Amino acid sequence: MNAPSSDDVVGLDALVVGAGFSGLYLLHRLRSEGFNVRLVEASDGVGGVWQNNRYPGARVDSHVPNYELSLEAVWRDWTWTERFPGRDELVAYFDHVVTVLDLARDIDLDTRVAAARFDESTHRWSVTTDGRGYECRYLLLCTGFGSKAYTPDLPGLDTFAGVCHHSAHWPADGEPARSGRVGVIGTGASGVQIVQELAPVAAHLTVFQRSPVMAIPMRQRRLDPAEQTAAKDRYPEIFRRRNNSPSSFADIERLDISAFAVSDAERTAIYDEAWHKGGFHFWAGTFNDILIDERANLTAYQYWRDHVRQRIDDPSTAALLAPTEPPYPFGTKRPSLEQTFYDLFNQPNIDLVDLRATPIETITPTGIRTTAGDIELDLLVLATGFDANTGGLTAIDIRDRHDRSLTERWSAGVNTHLGVAVDGFPNMLFLYGPQSATAFCNGPVCAEFQGDWVTDLLIRLRERGHTMFDVDPTTGPEWSAHLALIADATLLGRTDSWYMAANVPGKPRQLLNYPSPGMYTDRLRQCAADGYDGFRFGSAS
Ligand code: FAD
Repeated sequence: MNAPSSDDVVGLDALVVGAGFSGLYLLHRLRSEGFNVRLVEASDGVGGVWQNNRYPGARVDSHVPNYELSLEAVWRDWTWTERFPGRDELVAYFDHVVTVLDLARDIDLDTRVAAARFDESTHRWSVTTDGRGYECRYLLLCTGFGSKAYTPDLPGLDTFAGVCHHSAHWPADGEPARSGRVGVIGTGASGVQIVQELAPVAAHLTVFQRSPVMAIPMRQRRLDPAEQTAAKDRYPEIFRRRNNSPSSFADIERLDISAFAVSDAERTAIYDEAWHKGGFHFWAGTFNDILIDERANLTAYQYWRDHVRQRIDDPSTAALLAPTEPPYPFGTKRPSLEQTFYDLFNQPNIDLVDLRATPIETITPTGIRTTAGDIELDLLVLATGFDANTGGLTAIDIRDRHDRSLTERWSAGVNTHLGVAVDGFPNMLFLYGPQSATAFCNGPVCAEFQGDWVTDLLIRLRERGHTMFDVDPTTGPEWSAHLALIADATLLGRTDSWYMAANVPGKPRQLLNYPSPGMYTDRLRQCAADGYDGFRFGSAS
């Protein structure tokens, strides 16, 4: 990393880090309000997770038109080809966003932020990248919840002589060894999508499963451009509903009744309807006690299990993919959406290895050795997810007023004020990060809501002549305690998931995402209405 000379340092009101939904929207909003702002992005293109995740089959699980910005200038001339768009189409969409909003002139690509220090006398951040230096009043981190891949400590991994890719680091030039012997470790969203793509073309594919994914039907379909054009008259209303919906989807709403407030037949009819609609309906669009009451949850699990099992010929494979008893409450891990995942296990070229029964002993030069024997592989896929929520932030060497890094500050557990700020890190905010609704929130909805909230805060500081804000040290522990109560009051706290920071060894176990986008946005709105409760403001002398 080169220390930039003072001639190379760019002076700004605000530096936005990350060119996904959050960063691009914030750049647009702040620039429209007259702030001198630039955006830096580590990758060579925009789109955030969609730029970076190039694995075969990568596609979004939020259906059209939920997963796009609600700005008319952007949606008016854009049409999608599929109800759940794939990665390449999403990247093209982000290029469209940049063009329509004329953002490119304020974006520096291939620029990774490495470190940041706050100057107490000027109330400004000095930011070091792998190129130019930046100096800004406000440091706005839009680094996403999944920008740092997680690879488990698998013995012998570096000895593997075949091709090995983490799903988040798939090479741009496509998937090699299509017809070879493929092994996929991990059955989260990326694992499911990769299996669906590679099983039909691989000579042999082995899925290594630790715990079963409870994948629900996507119901993908092609979209007719004329149908979308006709629907655009309703887009303002659709986006208004989406942005104010408790679920952050225009057309998914939890029923305000218990699973036991209806007869068995009525309950099945409600599950049937959600199942056939596809997408997240079966997760977020049924009874209000599914994520709260174990018995209610069991009714959803049993429906899911029985429908999945119908598709799998071999009873022992069916029992591993959809066990009789729930391995964890339904929906407490993020359900993946699937199209053909379960049917593929009827193909002769696909095997399932249960890592609970036969754990991996070591990776060998030729494949994987489990306690049951060796499996030879040409391509090893690590669909092992992310250092979710915190990894993108802690990867940057940002120091607080006492020279402590975020990693140090969060070593015993994450503490934030409302999932946007940390005491002792003045003039720094982060979006779509830990302790906000994040992974429970349909991406663009939280990007727009938090982007507007941050913009309003910076306008207020400008209007009042303040040059600095910080948050009270009591705010972090209070917000963490509130999230801990939610974890205990729901079924979420019972499951080892990345919502609970339980996928990466050593991370303190705690609920890192606020499970209701609607309630979360209400809290942020209330904070602003109360004069930015928990915030303190100051001015440089
Ligand atoms: P991101 O899109 O993650 O963008 C962050 C950007 O910051 C990245 O471009 C990264 O390169 C950059 N960056 C990170 N660190 C630095 C640094 N130090 N310096 C410079 N740049 C940096 N959400 C949904 O609502 N529906 C879905 O179906 C869905 N599917 C997903 C599938 C996958 C595989 C993943 C990983 C996420 C998915 N998400 C989904 C969540 C997704 O993160 C959000 O929808 C949305 O993309 C968040 O946008 P963002 O701008 O906050 O972050």
